[in-house]
Amino acid sequence: MFGKWKDFFYGDERDMQERLFVLVTTVLAVSFTFFVIVDILSGASFWNVILLTVFVALLGVIAGVSLRRKRVRLGAGIISALIIFLLLPYMFFSSGGIYGGLPIWFIFAALFVNLILTGRARLIFLIANLLAAACCYALAFTNPSLVHQNTTLVAYIDSYAALFFITLAVSAMLRYEIVLYQKENRKAEQQKREIEELNVAQSRFFSSMSHEIRTPINTIIGLNEMILREDVSEEVAEDAANIQAASRMLLHLINDILDMSKLESGSMQLTPVAYKVGDMLSELVGMFWGRAQEKGLEFRVNIAPDLPAELFGDDVRIKQILINVLNNALKYTQEGSVTLAIQCGQQTGSLREIVYSVSDTGIGIKKESIPYLFTAFKRVDEERNRRIEGTGLGLSIVKQLVDLMGGTVSVNSVYTQGSTFTIVLPQQAAGEETVGALDLETRAATGRPAYHARFEAPEARVLVVDDNASNLMVVSKLLRGTKATVETASSGEAALHRTLENAYDVIFMDHMMPEMDGIECRRRILSQSGGRCRESKVIALTANADAESRALYEREGFDGFLTKPIDGDALERELCRQLPADKVRSLVEEDGDLLRDSVAWIQAPQRKRMVAVSAESTADLPQELLEKYGIALIPHRVVTEYGVFRDGQDLEANGLLAYMADHDCRVEGLPPDVDALEAFFAEQLKRANHLIFIALSSRVGNSCYLAAMEAAKSFSNVTVVDSGHLSSGQGLLVLEACRLAEEGKAPAEIAETLEETKQRIHTSFIVDNLDYLSRAGQVGVRTARLTKALSMRPVLRLKDGKMGVGHIYLISRRRAWKKYIDAALCTPLDIDTRMLFITYSGVSLQELNWILEQVEEDVHFQKVYFQKASPSVAVNCGPGTFGLLFLNKELF
Ligand code: ADP
Repeated sequence: MFGKWKDFFYGDERDMQERLFVLVTTVLAVSFTFFVIVDILSGASFWNVILLTVFVALLGVIAGVSLRRKRVRLGAGIISALIIFLLLPYMFFSSGGIYGGLPIWFIFAALFVNLILTGRARLIFLIANLLAAACCYALAFTNPSLVHQNTTLVAYIDSYAALFFITLAVSAMLRYEIVLYQKENRKAEQQKREIEELNVAQSRFFSSMSHEIRTPINTIIGLNEMILREDVSEEVAEDAANIQAASRMLLHLINDILDMSKLESGSMQLTPVAYKVGDMLSELVGMFWGRAQEKGLEFRVNIAPDLPAELFGDDVRIKQILINVLNNALKYTQEGSVTLAIQCGQQTGSLREIVYSVSDTGIGIKKESIPYLFTAFKRVDEERNRRIEGTGLGLSIVKQLVDLMGGTVSVNSVYTQGSTFTIVLPQQAAGEETVGALDLETRAATGRPAYHARFEAPEARVLVVDDNASNLMVVSKLLRGTKATVETASSGEAALHRTLENAYDVIFMDHMMPEMDGIECRRRILSQSGGRCRESKVIALTANADAESRALYEREGFDGFLTKPIDGDALERELCRQLPADKVRSLVEEDGDLLRDSVAWIQAPQRKRMVAVSAESTADLPQELLEKYGIALIPHRVVTEYGVFRDGQDLEANGLLAYMADHDCRVEGLPPDVDALEAFFAEQLKRANHLIFIALSSRVGNSCYLAAMEAAKSFSNVTVVDSGHLSSGQGLLVLEACRLAEEGKAPAEIAETLEETKQRIHTSFIVDNLDYLSRAGQVGVRTARLTKALSMRPVLRLKDGKMGVGHIYLISRRRAWKKYIDAALCTPLDIDTRMLFITYSGVSLQELNWILEQVEEDVHFQKVYFQKASPSVAVNCGPGTFGLLFLNKELF
């Protein structure tokens, strides 16, 4: 019986609410049964006894039915209502009011509601309970006669009984909660342990899977390489080449799937080590250069000379990231080039941001596909890519690895034009040295070169230790060309026998072997008493390709590390490196030429900027500043009856104004469209990792702000800023952005600062009349005619990004100009006097000098730029226009 109750309360079959419901209802039923007994013994009123008995019976029925029907909430609600609205008020008045045990029972009711009800019902019943108690108190206070007064003894018993039962109930419920809590805790700990064990088992599974799969593939690739080395017929060579490609593909696929599962289960571990950047690059170049050539693509490498020569990071995983991205670049590019660029970004503390970018001139990615690029198993634009092999795993792995390293990956792509993947990984420099002009050692070869051993070492003795017979055979065969004596041992024990009898120069040692693993075997060989190999070089030859394993072999003191599937060339190189020089006879004119050849195509490093700033031709900046800051401008177009001209390139303002003066025609400035902006952004991103584009105020007619925002969707590194100004006002914001970029500020920070700066720019023009603005459709014809007829000279001001007419002067031109200058510079103390733009159209040199004199009378600027307005600005203002554009000082 007791066991059954225990199971009910502590078992997992019933949910928590049900169990609490039964517990609290039982306490309630027991308490009220006690009251029934007390009432009978103390001769209480008949109705009291009946009511309590009915209530206890009802409790049983409601609890039973609601449990069976799984409507515990409803049952609890009904019981709460019965207690609060019926039972407690009745008992309050029938057993002594506040001089009995009832006030304490109201507390019990609150506890009951809190424990069993949830959500809104709980709140409603809690309030109802307080209100019911308040009503009882108020009624008893105002009508004491309604309260049946107990004798003193009964009152004491009643009060104590309430205290007793409620203490019991509260203690039982608290105890129950504590026991449950402890039980849940134990369960959670148990689960945690199980998950940890599962993770360990999973890691073991992954590593043995990786090992088991690599071993047969090693045999296939190794033996196949032997066929390729032989002087076989073209057909056999072609078949062997296909086997090689397929095996490598299979290996790649299996690695991807294993990595994906590791990443998903959270068991992927990073092992940062100090690695040489040059070595990694040379491997990458060796891998891709030949493939690019075969496909007729140019493969460019662009390495910043200030890149640290040694970095601290998980080089195996970094290489994997780059291989994936480079693989894609090659896969999805049919003509043109693939460029790998690496440079240093920002430095935070001891960490440097290393920026890797891979650009191609391939098929590009549709804007709408970009958000799905990094989703596992998702290949975008499947229709077009169906003939290109792939699983959709590569970029997902890239993203997860980059995240794991605390870096970022972003993509810019213009459909049909090409893509750039930019990966930023924070790493520590492992020394002061920089890569400088890189000497990449590559095996850059075209076509299938006939195999030649790179050296001979007939006196050398080599021992290969591996429990897998195929592996032994592959290594022996791959080393045949070196003429060294190669012996094998298929276990640690066998190796120890051999090393006791023979002296080997180099021992290639497998790691995972039954009974005695490679690490143990090496230790015993080097300390073997009477052993002849205590000075031998031992190279780990293993299927565990991760950085963690490599770090382990380094720690253990291995002299080298080679991974399976074994690359014949790498094997030869390693042997050559380890053998004593007097035993080696080189057969190739050591890589000097090859080296020189391979570095010849590594371009003179062109440093990509971190942030470039660009704008439209309307920014009206002098050539000198455009060149100084490397600002690129995209031209607006000017549409006339005779054709469309590119702003500032095909056309300059004076010619256009002369033309307009002679012809009463409509000339319109047209901003660049989305396609033109996309192409412009893509071009600019070749020289920078991030682009800030500062657009003409989005609130003037010919702004390209919206088009720029649309075009920027194709790129993750283009920030579009609404300048809120036009002409040199926009230019001032561009200059401010350049200054911030030169200070090394991050794009988001620059954009934020510009928002504040644009409030400080003063952009205004005084024009001769509104004729030109009306021709451009910016103001009504009638207003324009009126101002012209009355010789009014309006001042155009940009406020909140919008063009408006400020003052209108009804005086001669010179006097109006003077007034405009004085008004614009009326608060000299607020003006940032470092720079002033006097931007004009159709104003003579003499007049400009006069303007400068007037300006100098008011404020002295350190630098004044006379800037001819671009045609698309000029067509709006007409001749006889100039503006004073400057910055106000920062307030704080
Ligand atoms: P896959 O194995 O299909 O190449 P990835 O995860 O590496 O898988 O890439 C996902 C998708 O992204 C590809 O299917 C392809 O459509 C697109 N993609 C990746 N890189 C490029 C690129 N350089 N140019 C064009 N499309 C690309």
